[in-house]
Amino acid sequence: MDLPALPPHQPPHEAVARASIKVDIMVIGAGQAGLSSAYHLGKLGLRPGRNFIVLDKNGRPGGAWQHRWPSLTLSTVNRVHDLPGMGFSEVVALGESEVRASVAVPDYFAAYEEKFRLPVYRPIVVKVVCERLGRLRVETDREVFSAGGIINATGTWETPQIPSYPGADLFEGRQLHSRDYRTATELAGQHVVVVGSGISALQHLDEISQLTTTSWVTRREPQFRDRSFTPEDGRAAVAIVEDKVRNGLVPGSVVSVTGIPWTPALRAAAARGALRRLPMFSEITAHGVRWPDGTEQRADVILWATGFRSSLDHLAPLQLREDNGGIVMTGRLATEVKKDPRIHLVGYGPSASTIGANRAGAAAARELAVRLGLI
Ligand SMILES: Cc1cc2nc3c(=O)[nH]c(=O)nc-3n(C[C@H](O)[C@H](O)[C@H](O)COP(=O)(O)OP(=O)(O)OC[C@H]3O[C@@H](n4cnc5c(N)ncnc54)[C@H](O)[C@@H]3O)c2cc1C
Repeated sequence: MDLPALPPHQPPHEAVARASIKVDIMVIGAGQAGLSSAYHLGKLGLRPGRNFIVLDKNGRPGGAWQHRWPSLTLSTVNRVHDLPGMGFSEVVALGESEVRASVAVPDYFAAYEEKFRLPVYRPIVVKVVCERLGRLRVETDREVFSAGGIINATGTWETPQIPSYPGADLFEGRQLHSRDYRTATELAGQHVVVVGSGISALQHLDEISQLTTTSWVTRREPQFRDRSFTPEDGRAAVAIVEDKVRNGLVPGSVVSVTGIPWTPALRAAAARGALRRLPMFSEITAHGVRWPDGTEQRADVILWATGFRSSLDHLAPLQLREDNGGIVMTGRLATEVKKDPRIHLVGYGPSASTIGANRAGAAAARELAVRLGLI
């Protein structure tokens, strides 16, 4: 394969001084969305290394999956869809559902990159993308690149969201985000306040409440669903998020519009009394949290299962956002940025799921290759 050899690591200031490496399409991120995009670029006949490359911040394959907490197994994830062209079962034997997602998915991605000889360079962190003489200048912690177009697939894991509450800096206990959660055993014997109403919050609550006392606090009333989730439900949820991004609104996650299905584990947690939901507190104190009516709860740990936002800060100089913080998206699957069609966002908004990322990668690869006159 025709890959440009990257010189050894250079401090950024030296890299900036050198001429940039030219590529037609730069894929940023090698998670589900970036790998799907790279696969489809190859399928379109584009040459890896010459026409397109992939840069990834992580030192090894797996996207954000390599960082997921150990108790997240193939049986407790929603579902990881196969990447295009190669089944999960080619790498991970069926029946191994208790295997950690943080092991199985990276193994699968590694085999996938190898099988399709995808030109992934790592670890390289994209710092800034800006306009330069009609092309896109991509500054990284190593080289500087010049790209005709970008498929951005940087996910959300790098940008955890923690809402700010008065007194947060006074708290003498431990505060952590889902991103930093490892295991319930390290919290045993402590009172844990879990904040959030998504699937992660509920999984944390289920595990932790089996070992210690918990309080569950959410901003909105959680939406549980009794019936199982159908493909039509999935399409309807994606359509809502797609509509939002086509109108330049901040997308929110697909899961936030689907509700949370009752699982046997959640029913057991409810029977244990672990799902007694409290409204959001108004203040954090040195030793716990306090509600507006003065009620207090002592706490040793506050676990913020409050989600993530899209990791797009490196694109800030391109000024893609509207005043409300959203980005107007267009194209067949709403992956193309209307203000700058050289940029596609995959794994964003309606494609922020493994199946959505697969489809978005195909659409973005074709539309960008056509726009740049590569096919
Ligand atoms: C706890 C949890 C469980 C989930 N479970 C499911 C599930 O079961 N099923 C499902 O469909 N979805 C699930 N999701 C959503 C899931 O994250 C996506 O579906 C999918 O894995 C995201 O893929 P991605 O390629 O968009 O992002 P990621 O997997 O996050 O990949 C992004 C890549 O970009 C790299 N990157 C980021 N910034 C830069 C930069 N500046 N420079 C270079 N590289 C960069 C990162 O290092 C990373 O490798 C889950 C999410 C969470 C948080």
